[in-house]
Amino acid sequence: MLLPESIQSLINSLERLPGIGPKSASRLAFYLLRATDEVSQDLATALANLKANTAFCQECFNITEAGRERCEICEATRRDGSLICVVEEALDVLALERTGGFQGKYHVLQGVLSPIEGIGPDDLKIKQLIARISSGGIKEVILATNPSMEGDATALYLRQQLEPLGVRVTRLASGLPVGGDLEYADEITLSQALEGRREM
Ligand SMILES: [Zn+2]
Repeated sequence: MLLPESIQSLINSLERLPGIGPKSASRLAFYLLRATDEVSQDLATALANLKANTAFCQECFNITEAGRERCEICEATRRDGSLICVVEEALDVLALERTGGFQGKYHVLQGVLSPIEGIGPDDLKIKQLIARISSGGIKEVILATNPSMEGDATALYLRQQLEPLGVRVTRLASGLPVGGDLEYADEITLSQALEGRREM
């Protein structure tokens, strides 16, 4: 049986989201079909506003409000601009900010190297990181990618790339769950990982 075009196209769109397979996509689509108008309307509005009202900081690639060139963290003069913490996603910035223990600045890669998913160095904000460091004033780069296979491989790649630039390169200490996500680490674990970062 063929589904009406509007349902099929919603299923197709949902299927493209990470972690959503065909079954989950169908379930969500049918849930939305049965839900009140308000539920689907809120979702539609949130999706439409997502791109319209946000932008990426042109310095660190964190999320910022549309129309702003630099995010609040990059613009904060009281923060230490000689220390850059490299993370995978903007959510990791939030997690580290919640610890309140980091006073440097960030660089959001917007992903990790993943040969399986066809994500190479050019798909991430690596060139921009190198350009930032090359422009001077940076003493230490903390590689805070997730303690996963991809996160470790990305950190290793970055260390090789950063070596000729003469900056100190450190990696978050272990204690973070292997294969885990920075985003879900509790504040104490994350604070300790930051505190105990080691040379790479
Ligand atoms: Zn920024």
